[in-house]
Amino acid sequence: MVVLVIGGAGYIGCHAARALKRAGHEVIVFDNLSTGHELLATGFELVQGDVLDGLALARVLPRANAIMHFAAHAYVGESVTNPRKYFRNNVEGGLSLLNAALDAKVNKIIFSSTCAVYGEPAKIPIEENIPRQPVNPYGVSKLFFENALEAYDRAYGFRFASLRYFNAAGADESGEIGEWHDPETHLIPLALLAAEGTGPELQVFGSDYPTPDGTCIRDYIHVNDLASAHVKALEHLAAGKESFAANVGTGRGYSVQEVISAVEEVTGKRVPRKVGPRRAGDPPSLVANPAKAQALLHWKATRGLRDVVATAWNWMQRSREVSLR
Ligand code: UDP
Repeated sequence: MVVLVIGGAGYIGCHAARALKRAGHEVIVFDNLSTGHELLATGFELVQGDVLDGLALARVLPRANAIMHFAAHAYVGESVTNPRKYFRNNVEGGLSLLNAALDAKVNKIIFSSTCAVYGEPAKIPIEENIPRQPVNPYGVSKLFFENALEAYDRAYGFRFASLRYFNAAGADESGEIGEWHDPETHLIPLALLAAEGTGPELQVFGSDYPTPDGTCIRDYIHVNDLASAHVKALEHLAAGKESFAANVGTGRGYSVQEVISAVEEVTGKRVPRKVGPRRAGDPPSLVANPAKAQALLHWKATRGLRDVVATAWNWMQRSREVSLR
């Protein structure tokens, strides 16, 4: 198939593009390079454009059979202070893409959704059928798009897979691509930079949560396991099967403290850190029940926390060697 990867020069999109290529599909990357990096799309046709630009989409969509949509703003805190930016890009931009796809008769889409659509779930591990009650504008913007997909499926036969990611982390084993955010806010890269001595001391956001060691628990999924779930979801829709939403996680949670220990083990260095206050909006624990994706897609995460940290560390060093940073 020919797949238009919207946001394919970003962290998760570039890993999905490679996974598609490895599975024998053709890829066109579409990215406005606002937060993406041309270098991450090396080896792919790159069309520079914005999801809000219907004309640019109309030019490229007729060449595609399916879409993967990764182009979204994704900082929870920023979405609280600047919701306009989030609704403009994630909601208006998302609809612009959906309508352009409809007009071009491209009726299959894999969407980067998030566990943030659940808000603060009462029960862990999280199953897909619990109420979706996001607690910040980022989660609201993603839930809006999930709802739009359901409506377009019902009305127009538009087929979708909403993949609700847990914590994407790690990097391609090649060391050629990886996480590259500016500013970096995520735990694993920040812990690695602190260990290396090139970043500030790590702030641990709260140690008084109702968890065994008092720090927050998250489900860290290797970005290449995430990428392979996208390929399987695409093949599922291409086989004429039903639209669906599913969690994409490992089913195993790790605390911030356990992540720090894994970083120390992999790097052989201590992570300088200080316990600070909680970060607003962080639920104590978010762990997937991935049974639905496993059954529907015959997919399973195959990499654990150690692989996540080791590949992220490898990428950090490799990227610096070739002075990408
Ligand atoms: N975290 C932390 N210090 C940091 C960044 C993150 O203690 O500098 C914690 C955060 O509170 C959360 C976990 O690490 O419990 C993962 O946060 P991250 O920002 O990586 O991903 P999120 O869960 O927000 O998507």
